[in-house]
Amino acid sequence: MIFDLVIQNGTVVTSAATFQADVGVRDGKIAAFGQSLEGERVLDATDMLVTPGAVDIHVHMQMSLGDGVVSADTFLTGTRAAAFGGTTAIVDFVEVEPQQSMIEALHARQAEADPQVVIDYALHMTLGPDEISKLDQLTAVAAAGITSYKLYMAYGFRLTDDQLYRALRAVRDVGGMPVIHAENWDIINALVADNLAAGRTSSHWHPRSRPALFEGEAAGRAIDIAAYVGTPLHIFHVSCREVVAKIAAARRQGLPITGETCPQYLNLTWEAYDAPGGRGAYAVCSPPIRDRSQQQALWQALARGELQVVTTDHCPFSAEDKARGRDDYSQIPGGVPSIEMRFASMYSGGVVTGRLTPNQWVDLCCTTPAKIANLAGKGDLIVGYDADIVIFDPGQKRILSPETLHENVSWTPYNGLEIQGWPKVTISRGEVIVHDGRFFGKPGRGQFIFRKV
Ligand code: MN
Ligand code: MN
Repeated sequence: MIFDLVIQNGTVVTSAATFQADVGVRDGKIAAFGQSLEGERVLDATDMLVTPGAVDIHVHMQMSLGDGVVSADTFLTGTRAAAFGGTTAIVDFVEVEPQQSMIEALHARQAEADPQVVIDYALHMTLGPDEISKLDQLTAVAAAGITSYKLYMAYGFRLTDDQLYRALRAVRDVGGMPVIHAENWDIINALVADNLAAGRTSSHWHPRSRPALFEGEAAGRAIDIAAYVGTPLHIFHVSCREVVAKIAAARRQGLPITGETCPQYLNLTWEAYDAPGGRGAYAVCSPPIRDRSQQQALWQALARGELQVVTTDHCPFSAEDKARGRDDYSQIPGGVPSIEMRFASMYSGGVVTGRLTPNQWVDLCCTTPAKIANLAGKGDLIVGYDADIVIFDPGQKRILSPETLHENVSWTPYNGLEIQGWPKVTISRGEVIVHDGRFFGKPGRGQFIFRKV
C-alpha cells in the first residue's frame, strides 16, 4: 500500500509507549505503523520524536471584555501561533449575551472562528448568572456538539454557590463536563479595596490580593458541590499546592476530579509583577503567578499525576491595553500568551530536566486533555485517529522573544527563556501546516469538532 504521507525513521512517543516505527497516513487519518512504509510524500524523522499533535483545551481568542478591550489574538493569529508550537486542536469559549439564546451565541462564535482557524477547534459553553434561568437550553446545546461547560467563581460571570449547584446539576443531566475558574471573589474584592484605599496600586499587589489559601478554599468548595451533585469537574489553571491538595484528596476518594496548570505558573515567579517600566502588568493573569516554592510544588504535582493536564489559558492583551491599569492594578486585563511555547516548554522544563518522562509529557499536553474535553480521534497516535502529528526536534535550542514567537502581541513574559526542543513539522489531519518554521495552512481549513456525549 502506498500511503499519502509517511513519517520515516522517527521515535514514536505516545502517553503509553515509546517505539521506533514509520507512521503511514491516508485520507487524513493515521493508517499504519511499520517498517519501510512507502508514501507519495515522505518526511524523514531521523533523530526526531513523533508525537500526537498537542491539544490545548483552554484558550481565549478575540475575547471581548467590553469597553473596547479584546484579547489580542484572533482565531487566525492564535491558531497559527498554536500550529507553530505543535498544537493541532484547541478549545475556546462561547459567551452568551443577555438577549441571546445559547444556540444563537454558539452560532455567532462559530461564525467568528470558522473562516479563520487553521487547526481544529471546539467550544466550551459559558454558563454565567444570566444562563441559570436558561438551563433548559442545555439539551439543544448538547445536540449542537457541545459537551463541556465553563463556570466561573469570579468576575462578572461569577456564580454564587446556589447557582453553581443548579448549573452543575443541569450539566450532569446532559452528560456534560463542567470546567471551572475557582477563586474566592468576595475575598479578592475586599483585598483589592483595602490595597487601593491604602494607595497600593501597582501590579506588585495583584498576587497579594488573590491568596493561594482562598484559591484552595474555592476549589474545595466547587469539588464538594460537584461531589454532592454527582458530576465530574475539571479545575482550570491551578496555581498553587492548596488546590493540588484538594484535587488529590478528592481523587483518593475515587471522585472524577481533574486539574490543570499552565506554563506561566511553571516558568515564571511573582517577581515578574515587580518588573520596571510597567512591564509588571504583562504578567498579570488570574489566578496569579506565585512564588518559587509554589512553582516547584506544581512541577511535583505533574510528576506525581496529581495534576493531569497542562493548558495555556492563552489570553494576551496588547501592551496598550495592559497599560490601562497603570494607576489601579485591578484594571489590568488579565492574561498572557503561552499558546506557542507550551508543548516545547513542557519538554524543556519537564523532560530535559528529568522531572517528567517523555510519555508523561505527551499525556499532559495531548492525550489527557483530549480525553477530558471529549475530543474523539485527537490526542493520541492510534490507527484510525486523525493524523494530527508533530515531528519534534529534541535537540533544537532557542531563546524565546516576541520577535520569534507568532502571537499577536509585542511582548512575551517569557522573553529570554531558553528552551530545548521545538516542533519541526506540524501535521493537521494529514496536511503539513508548519515545516521548518514556514507556515502552509490556509485560514478556515480548521474544523469545528462536533462532540457527542
Ligand atoms: Mn480563568
Ligand atoms: Mn481562562
